[in-house]
Amino acid sequence: MALYLHDTMRGRKVLFEPLVPGKVTMYLCGPTVYNYAHIGNARPAVVFDLLARLLRRSYALTFARNFTDVDDKINAAAAETGKPIGDITEQYIRAYVDDMGALGVQPPDIEPRATEHIAEMVTMISTLIDNGFAYEAEGHVLFDVASFDDYGKLSRRDLREMLAGARVEVAPYKRAPGDFVLWKPSTPELPGWDSPWGRGRPGWHIECSAMAEKHLGPTIDIHAGGQDLVFPHHENEVAQSACAHGGEPFAHYWLHNGFLGIDSTKMSKSLGNVLLVHDMVKTIPGEVIRLALLSAHYRQPLDWSDGTLESARRMLDRLYGAVRGIDIDTRLRREAEPHAALIAALEDDLNTPKALAEMFALARKLNKTRDDAERKSLAATLLAGGDLMGLLQDDAEAWFAHATEGELSTQAIDDLLKAREEARVNRDFARADAIRDQLSAAGITIEDGADGSRWRRSV
Ligand code: AMP
Ligand code: ZN
Repeated sequence: MALYLHDTMRGRKVLFEPLVPGKVTMYLCGPTVYNYAHIGNARPAVVFDLLARLLRRSYALTFARNFTDVDDKINAAAAETGKPIGDITEQYIRAYVDDMGALGVQPPDIEPRATEHIAEMVTMISTLIDNGFAYEAEGHVLFDVASFDDYGKLSRRDLREMLAGARVEVAPYKRAPGDFVLWKPSTPELPGWDSPWGRGRPGWHIECSAMAEKHLGPTIDIHAGGQDLVFPHHENEVAQSACAHGGEPFAHYWLHNGFLGIDSTKMSKSLGNVLLVHDMVKTIPGEVIRLALLSAHYRQPLDWSDGTLESARRMLDRLYGAVRGIDIDTRLRREAEPHAALIAALEDDLNTPKALAEMFALARKLNKTRDDAERKSLAATLLAGGDLMGLLQDDAEAWFAHATEGELSTQAIDDLLKAREEARVNRDFARADAIRDQLSAAGITIEDGADGSRWRRSV
């Protein structure tokens, strides 16, 4: 396998070589679980799921994707809704697993939760203090960025420039404005754990460094996440892990996906354009969403619109149409390999637009051939490519049966109405409106009355 990946640290595409021959370790920063994942959050999950699938063809992969289940945003959500923190995180962890599963994301090997790794974080922080990279001040522990020469290397920022430009008010306990929190004190009503620095809770960055070390070792092969995490999150992870491990690099390859925007704008609650996967999968087949997410190269921005989904659906119809009605025996199906051109595209820094084009080229060839044995063999190859991409997992007849039904099931509509009601109770009117739009696009009209909402199919 000759896999090339774009490494943010080196700023270019490089040949991937694992630290230990035959084995690969990969860590992906997972969600902070205080709400449902939106379609942008699904992009890293789907893209790096595809990379995991590709790596598993050639290596014994250990892939970890964490849950950040202690965070001030979660505390704020608990205060706002009056729900216990544990209930909130449990609810959204379960929803995340289900929603990503609906997009064909295979469960990673390890899904560590931050709250189950507090002891490892405390140990790492103690090591950093003992070795002069961190200091305690007023119940906080801070990382001293001036102590790490390479600080700023991943995000190509000059520390001095950063500090000179900083206009924000600096907390009095910090030696320098760029120093970041490893540990902070908790008031009695906030989640907290005993530590050498008093009862408190970890900063976000140390969570990932400690979980990666525990499950994957001090130096890992691949670390991935969305582009917004390069600074400060990953820059800080690099500093903590390298300094806790005698200067050994944290990760050999840093991969970052580009951002997804909607109709050329940023997704934001105030604009009412946040699309939640949890709502989308009720009316849109998961493979349509997955293909749409893979239709752009992962490092490029992805501009999402209704057209993105429509064209993904048409593409899947073409692929399913090509294999429909071809009776492939089990052995041929099992033994078939994806075609070389598809693998070559993916090995070139996960070039999914090219990979999809190769699938269409194969489908065209399949549609043209009159030779029955060749048709079967091409269909088996196409389906093997689908297995790798996480597409074409449905039976072709069933795929078209759903498509021709052309309408939402009563259950799906009821579920969406319930979700809309929940959004309204939480005063999340943007989400409530988005669900109404989604239903209306599917030909469902909602009538709000004094005794609740009713729906009818528009003719
Ligand atoms: P969060 O729960 O906010 O930490 O985000 C989880 C993951 O989703 C991180 O890897 C983010 O970088 C990524 N992410 C958040 N918003 C977007 C977006 N609009 N497009 C692509 N990736 C995103
Ligand atoms: Zn992280």
